[in-house]
Parts: sequence; C-alpha cells; structure tokens
Amino acid sequence: MDLSHLHFLVVEDHDFQRAIVISLLRQMGAEQITEAKDGSEALGKMRLLPPVFSVETGARSLPAQADILICDLDMPGMDGVELIRHVANEQLVRSIILLSGLDSDLISSVENMARAHGMPVLGMIEKPVSSQKLSNLIARFESIPVDDQRYPAVHVDVEQLHAALRQDQFIAYFQPKVAFDSKQLVGFEALARWRHPEYGILSPAAFIGMAEQSELINDLSWRMLELALLERQVWRKAGIDTQIAVNLSLAYLGQVGIAERITGLVRDAGVAAERVILEVTESLVTTNMAHVLENLARLRMRGFGISIDDYGTGFSSMQQLSRIPFTELKVDQSFVAGAAAKPNLRTILDSSLQLARKLGLSSVAEGIEKEEEWALLKSLGCDIAQGYFVARPLAANSVIEWSRNWAAQIPLVVSAAA
Ligand code: C2E
Ligand code: MG
Ligand code: MG
Repeated sequence: MDLSHLHFLVVEDHDFQRAIVISLLRQMGAEQITEAKDGSEALGKMRLLPPVFSVETGARSLPAQADILICDLDMPGMDGVELIRHVANEQLVRSIILLSGLDSDLISSVENMARAHGMPVLGMIEKPVSSQKLSNLIARFESIPVDDQRYPAVHVDVEQLHAALRQDQFIAYFQPKVAFDSKQLVGFEALARWRHPEYGILSPAAFIGMAEQSELINDLSWRMLELALLERQVWRKAGIDTQIAVNLSLAYLGQVGIAERITGLVRDAGVAAERVILEVTESLVTTNMAHVLENLARLRMRGFGISIDDYGTGFSSMQQLSRIPFTELKVDQSFVAGAAAKPNLRTILDSSLQLARKLGLSSVAEGIEKEEEWALLKSLGCDIAQGYFVARPLAANSVIEWSRNWAAQIPLVVSAAA
C-alpha cells in the first residue's frame, strides 16, 4: 500500500502511544503526518495549514484537510468526541479511525455520532496498535466513494461573509416542532441559510463556524432574530400563532448587554418573550462564561425559553445543565438516528429524557427521520418531535401552507392510529 499521498492527523494524549502510531505509519510509507496531544492542539494545527487548491472545484481555495484522522477518544482537554464534531463541522478531515481502550458500546455511539455528521468512520482499533490493524483500516479509505470523502463544496472567507450580510443574502428556513402526543404544531426553529448568488442555498456548515470566529456572528445572529420575528408576524396574521426558536451560540451570548437588546427587539415586535425559545449552541470560541450566565439568567427572568441544543454531544453538556436556567432539552440527532435498532442508544435516550423530566424541562428529539424513531421516542415519553419525518426545514414562504396541511391531517392521523 502506498501511503505517501495521504495526510494523517494523529491525536493521542499518551506520548508513547502517539509515537508508536507515527512510527508505524512512517514504516508503511506515510510522509505527511500532523500530530497533536489533544483536540484543541489538533484543531489549532489544522486551521493554521495553508489552504489548498482543488482540482474538483476549479481553482477555489479550500481549507487543508487530513485524509485520515486517527484519534484517541479519551483525552484530557478537548476529548475525541468533541474534536470529531468540530472537524466534521469545519470539514478538516475526510475520514476517521478511532483509537481506544474503551468498551464497544461507547465506541459504537461515537461512530454513530460521526456518521450523523456525515463523516465516514473507517473503523476502530483497540490498543495496542499494530501495523496489521492500521493497514486493514487504511485500506478502506480508498474504497469510500469520492462523493462521501467530504470534499468541501465551497470555502468562503470572512470578507465574503461580510459582503453577504450587507447584501442581505442570509435568510431563514423554518423547521416545525410538533407534540408527540397530540401532533399539534408547537413552533418553528429558524435555521440560517445563505442564498449565494453562485452556489445556491448554502447550509450553516459552510459559514457558521467561520462567523463564530469573528465578530460577524453578532450581526448574523441579530439578523436571524429579526427575520424570525418578522416571519412570525406574517404567520400570525394568517392565524398561526406558534413559538419561534432561534439558535444562539455561547460566543454571541457572551456580549455585555445582549439580554437587554434581545428583550427590546422582541418587545418592539409585539411578541411575548414566552413565545421565543433561544436554543443555545456550543461554540469553540472561548467565551466569557460570566457574561453568558448573566445574560441567560436575565433572559430567563424576562420569560424567554432557553433550550440546550445538541444535548449529549459536547463534553460540557451536563455541566451546563447545572449552571444555566434551561427550560428545554434537545437530544442530539446522533442518538436518535438508528436508535430503534440499537439498545445502547435507546438507553442514552431514555436516561436523557428522564433527566429532562426530573429537571422539569420539556424535551425535544431532533433528527426523527423514520416512523420507528417517532414510535420509540414517543414511547420513551419525549414531548416534542423535530425531523424529516415531520418536515424538512421549509423556506419562509412555505410555512403557512405547510401548517394548514399539517393541521388538516392531524385528526385523520390520530384516528388512524387509534
Ligand atoms: P441544530 O440547531 O441542532 O439544527 C438541527 C439541524 O439538523 C439542522 O441542520 C436541520 O436541518 C437538521 N435536521 C433536522 N431534521 C433532520 C433529520 O431528520 N435528519 C437529519 N439528518 N438532519 C435533520 P442545519 O440547518 O444544517 O443547521 C446545522 C446547525 O447549524 C444547527 O444545528 C445549529 O447549531 C447551527 N445553526 C443554524 N442556524 C444558526 C443560526 O442562525 N445561528 C447559529 N449560531 N447557529 C445556527
Ligand atoms: Mg437548534
Ligand atoms: Mg441540534
């Protein structure tokens, strides 16, 4: 096997273990190896690599990517689970080999999470690592279809994002949340999209990460709040009076005085704070946690709903639950995908939902794609469903029609099930 054309990223906290992996790779002919002792160091190094030019997409510059991330899961600092989420979002690697001494149930849920992020997992190696084990998995890389090898479709820079914001190219799509028991529409979540003049509608993966690393996330989040409130007014005139949810990252919520500004905006729009849910998403950017906590406490006091998004993925989720006055818990879609057939995922879902109940939070399952996932989450007592099974995110001008159709078919569905 010729490994000289592949770029490896090896992340392992034990110096000795890391040295073994690197020396095996070199013996096998690898020439391009980036090493790091934890997730933060790995991200730092990958982000600093000069952009490359891709033949597939013409001469557009792309962030440098490692072909194969070989990653330990259990590391101090940023662990493997969190690292995988970030490299998937920023498209910094094209496939993953997991390295671990941990038990197989845990590994399989991490594999699921990586796959839910669209990241191919070549397999898992139990320590000690040998060249045989490594080469078996590396061989699988060549057989991944090129489409799945995560070639980033577009790469943009902060300047382009600024221009897009000035030219009003950011829009909101809306995905419904419905109650499991009554099937009634509960609300809509606003999801950012970039209507790019050349590439069409781009999803947040192409720009949120970069926005969060600059001040731009502030203007973008504000725009999303405005758009969400504006659209809600339109629906309301059509008789659809629902909650509206907006995603705000910790970086955004760390700004001094942001609670007052948000409160003012919502008041001016004539919307009760109780109808607005702020979904708190984690971000890598170090934020002033004291300011975040102050803002969230204030927003909660004013009546806003506060939701912990992607629950169960970040290392700090549990810790955040104890610090932030949440009203809603959204179980991450990686636990939902395929849960009907996987007892370990089911256990995680069950205990997350129990936790939500004990803390008095309403629970939302995102990423419900199949009927059996709907049935499972419903049987586990989850309150609210969101996912392609109900609806994909909708363009703003489809929301009213969708809502009417949904309302019209509820009695039928309920009686059919009865
Ligand atoms: P999120 O808030 O957890 O949103 C759920 C994501 O899952 C959305 O992806 C949605 O389109 C997708 N999704 C919904 N149902 C299903 C399903 O059944 N199957 C699958 N496979 N996926 C489903 P999207 O729109 O690409 O957004 C990704 C993330 O970007 C969001 O995750 C959120 O963290 C972030 N984001 C989106 N809009 C904003 C924003 O305005 N501000 C900030 N800070 N972050 C945003
Ligand atoms: Mg969300
Ligand atoms: Mg989520």
